[in-house]
Formats: sequence, C-alpha cells, structure tokens
Amino acid sequence: MFPDITKLRKDFPILDQSVNGKPLIYLDNAATSQRPLQVIDRMNEFSLKINGNIHRATHFLANKTTEAFECARGTLRTFLNASESSEVIFTHGTTESINLVAHSFGEAFINAGDEVVVSEMEHHANIVPWQIICNRKGATLKVLRFTDQGVLDLAELDQLLTHKTKILAVTQVSNTLGTVNPIQKIITKAHEKNIPVLIDGAQGAAHFRIDVQELDCDFYALSGHKMYGPTGIGVLYGKRKWLDRMPPFLSGGEMIDRVTFGNTTFNEIPYKFEAGTPHYTGAIGLAAAIEYLNNQDISILEKYEHELLAEATMRLKQIDGLTIYGEAPEKSGVISFNIEGIHPFDLGTLLDQLGIAVRTGRLCADPVMDHYGVENMVRASFAFYNTFKEIETFYKALIRLKTMF
Ligand code: PLP
Repeated sequence: MFPDITKLRKDFPILDQSVNGKPLIYLDNAATSQRPLQVIDRMNEFSLKINGNIHRATHFLANKTTEAFECARGTLRTFLNASESSEVIFTHGTTESINLVAHSFGEAFINAGDEVVVSEMEHHANIVPWQIICNRKGATLKVLRFTDQGVLDLAELDQLLTHKTKILAVTQVSNTLGTVNPIQKIITKAHEKNIPVLIDGAQGAAHFRIDVQELDCDFYALSGHKMYGPTGIGVLYGKRKWLDRMPPFLSGGEMIDRVTFGNTTFNEIPYKFEAGTPHYTGAIGLAAAIEYLNNQDISILEKYEHELLAEATMRLKQIDGLTIYGEAPEKSGVISFNIEGIHPFDLGTLLDQLGIAVRTGRLCADPVMDHYGVENMVRASFAFYNTFKEIETFYKALIRLKTMF
C-alpha cells in the first residue's frame, strides 16, 4: 500500500509552484531535500518567541533555548539509538562531522606508516579530510574499489584491512551511484580486525531506520538538510570510548572547562566538540524534521521510493543512447546518467526550462567520474513526495530533448 502522496505534498508548499511556466518537478533531493511546514513553523515559532544564547545563562529565554537544544539532542539520540545523548555532537553537517573525526581521531590515533581506507565511491567530503590528515601524519590512504555495476568489492576489503589500518570510512549510500552498501557486513569485517568504522550517512539517514548500537559503527555522520531539515546543521555520532580520547577539533567558548593563560582544560563530551554558539535554531528544526519522519511509516516510504526508482530506471532504459551509472542490486533513489550526444549541462538547463530540477556536474565525486571515464553526469534523485506522474513527465521531457538534438 502506497502512502497518500497528495496529502503528504501539502506539507511541502514549495513543491506547489511553477518554474519557467511549468509545474515544478523537484528531482534534486540528494543535493538537498525540501522542508515540511512542521519544520519551518517550529523554527519560526522559536525565533519569534524564544531565542536566547544557550548554556550557562540565568534568564528565561536562554534557559528555554538551552532546554529546546538539549531536547533536540535527545530526539537525535533516540533517532540514532545512541546509548547516551553525550555521544551526539551537533555540527554544521556531514562535511564538518567527517572533518572533526579525521582531524581529531587522526591527531590521536594516526601515525607515520599507518593506513586509512575509504571507498572509491565516496563523496569528496569523505576523501579529502582523510587525505589531509594522512599527508600531515605520513600515513597512506587506501581505496576500496567498486565494480562497474557500482558494488563494493568486499573480497578486496579483506586484503585492504590490515594491522596498519587505523580507520575505515565508507558511505552508507552513494550520492552518485545510489548503491546502498552492506554497512553491517563491512563494520563486522573491520571489527574482526579491531578497526573502527565511520559511516557517512548523508544519503542514508533520510531513507532508512538507523540504529548505531545494532550497527555497532564507531562514528556516523549526517546532514539535516538532506533529511527534510534545515541547512547548516548536522550530527556526528561517536562512541564515547573514542570521543573521550580524541582532542578538541575547534576551540573557543563552550568547549572549555577552565582557561588560564598558562593552560586550558576542556569540557566533557559532547561540549568538548561544540565550540562557540551552535546553530541551535537549526538543531531545533532538525529535531522537528525527525519528529515529522517519526510520524510517517518509514518502511512504507522506503518501499514507495524504491518503486519510484524502479519506474524511473525502467523508463530511462527505454531511451536509446542513455547510460545509467550504477546498477547495484541494492539501490536508493538516485539515478546518474548521460545521453549520448547531449552535454549534461545542456540537458540540465533544458530540463530546467521545462520546470524539472536535476543536478549536473561531477557530483562531488571525481573518482566516480574517473571510474567511468566521463567528465560529468546528470543526476535525478527522488524523495517520498515525488510521484509516478512526475517520472512520466521527466521521461517524456528526456525523449523530447533527445529528439531536439
Ligand atoms: N557525503 C555524501 C554521501 C553526500 O552526498 C554529501 C552531500 O551531498 C556529503 C557527504 C556532504 O554533505 P554536506 O554538504 O551536507 O556536509
């Protein structure tokens, strides 16, 4: 049984508009998803009535804000099933979360001669921070390859993980190929060799139920704006056993215990990693987005998104000269493709003229472009508010544009 999409779409008034004289079809959800009224209203209400800087204040508004911020942390803890709220750190998003771990875990645990393993299908956010720490420490970045179908080669993983490996960082869902990686299996394999694992959940958290204790991942990173929440807010989940032993990332107010000119002692986690005024309005908005998701049947939405993907894949495959990149058996709602003879940027611009929003370019995944020997791709990515009718319009638009060329 499918959810009532017409009803759900009413929560997202942004979708009900025309672009270039055509009804908007928003297929750029992997870049950023739209926010329901419930999130927008919560943030507005907070700004209209409550705002005050958090922690260590005595006045009403600051206390209310602190309460709301810590309550948001609690919502995230439950959403991720972390064993304690202190393991939930608010960041600006997945990029900052991964930088925090690369910098801080790297500072404490990565040394000359060590190795870090990432996969070939990572977003740049899960490559570059590791490259920088490896260069600084004299360590080596190793790469787990994927097959042309877009599947990670787990047999190769066994070879790559050695006593030199200090951490494995891998995405739950590829933002280009849509591959849903078998992260449970990957974590188990790494843990058999006592290697901690960071999961990049930027594309996973909005679509799947996450249980960090069941997964037993050491770190999990997510972005609010990719899960129907606001921009500028994200989360790093980390096991206390690591966070306690990692030095601070950013420094300044909030993250300290006591400062003298001679020495500074640091606050407890999570505050040790939350220097300065956090984006508490964003955290409150993110909690509202999670409550919104909690009010839906995630497994039904997941099935519906899967049907959308299957329908779009079936349609696109009917187009001569169209190549889909990534056809893993386990895929989330992302299709990256090219049409022979049409530059991806031209395709993106012309689709926009027809009111259809897709992404074009290198998709922050240069190694994936290199794998397939292409410069750019077009990417359509789906959310539960997309419809089969939109997919049909998208398909017909592609046919029309192909004929034009
Ligand atoms: N990782 C993946 C898989 C992504 O898709 C993205 C964004 O597209 C990121 C990391 C970076 O997320 P953000 O820009 O929200 O920090």
